[in-house]
Amino acid sequence: MKTLELFEKYVIPNYTRYPVVLTRGEGSFIWDEDGKRYLDFFPGWGCNLLGHCPPTVVEAIQAQAAKLIHVPNSWHTREQGEWAQLLSQRSFGGKCFFCNSGTEANEAAIKLARMYGDEKKRYKIITFEDGFHGRTMGSVAATAQPKYQRGLGPLLPGFVYAPYNDLEAVRNIVENDDEIVAIMLEPIQGEGGVHIPSTEFMVGLRQLCDEHELILHFDEVQTGCGRTGTWFAYQGIGVTPDVMTLAKAIAGGMAAGALICKPELAPFLRPGMHAATFGGNPLAAAAGIATIRTIEEQNLLENANQNCEIFLRRFNALKEKCDVIADVRGRGAMIGVELNVSGAPAVQKCMENGLLINCTHGVVVRLLPPANLSAELANEGCDILCDALLSL
Ligand SMILES: *Cc1c(COP(=O)(O)O)cnc(C)c1O
Repeated sequence: MKTLELFEKYVIPNYTRYPVVLTRGEGSFIWDEDGKRYLDFFPGWGCNLLGHCPPTVVEAIQAQAAKLIHVPNSWHTREQGEWAQLLSQRSFGGKCFFCNSGTEANEAAIKLARMYGDEKKRYKIITFEDGFHGRTMGSVAATAQPKYQRGLGPLLPGFVYAPYNDLEAVRNIVENDDEIVAIMLEPIQGEGGVHIPSTEFMVGLRQLCDEHELILHFDEVQTGCGRTGTWFAYQGIGVTPDVMTLAKAIAGGMAAGALICKPELAPFLRPGMHAATFGGNPLAAAAGIATIRTIEEQNLLENANQNCEIFLRRFNALKEKCDVIADVRGRGAMIGVELNVSGAPAVQKCMENGLLINCTHGVVVRLLPPANLSAELANEGCDILCDALLSL
């Protein structure tokens, strides 16, 4: 039976999949079963920040798999402790809880906020229009987009939605509702279309949280771990959260997630109240450690920032002569090109010409290229994408 037939017969069709079977990846390239090679500007939906099968991560996984694959969290492992240390030292000196995905990290953060607010009977969390936080019932309630919630009701109560980048709207909610306990947002909206908020908005949220003793939670599942050219997007903005959630790029493509919170918040997630059986397992931890070390040893934050300049320069130049481009946005290895028309034909055209990209919110071409992409390949991919955009 052909692969597509296996899917047809045995796999639940809850994804829209391209009729392509991928077989092998190496660096910035991936191959399908017909031997066609693609330059991948969206490797692993943002998870493969080091490209496909980065050798240092492959080696770490292979070595760890031969020693210990999984043990429960009723024991200590060296790998989990060291991974937490590396993440803590590169962020705000917090403590880590490990899980296996972004939505799970956000569930942990929602629980932490509720337990923090329990004594004063505060439980409501402000989240933002066009945000995205995942697919489990807590995260989907936090995701203020009707298209992800339709038919799932009743949703978990306790979320109040505000417009992104509108400080007065948030202030108004906070000052009129003493049940608010936290503000949760992406420091750059990813799925929502690579929207970068103003610094005043972020500074204002920090002040509101300080004044009202609210938790400021940044969902850095997409922006974190080097994606935006700093270790975490908040560092590029200059506003530090109390809680941060991570997943996607955290372990070089291995499934993993984490919540990091300020040390004084850590006791609220007390023993018995939260857990993840596979969370922080030695295999994921070894991959996570190797990912961080590789980014540092190969100076990849710097490389991502240099590539960002290439992307912004190329797409801004195209914008001058091509009126389908409405706006160009980007930080590090996270680029959004907003169009005045649907982006789906551009995705199709690029795929035919050997380049994989993504389109989100119908009109935003989103690139999450590897941080170790060469300048030459960045330009090569831009050539293909610019041709596709010109043909729209
Ligand atoms: C992808 C994403 C999630 C969900 O992560 P999963 O690993 O798919 O559960 C949550 N928040 C943001 C910002 C994301 O981009």
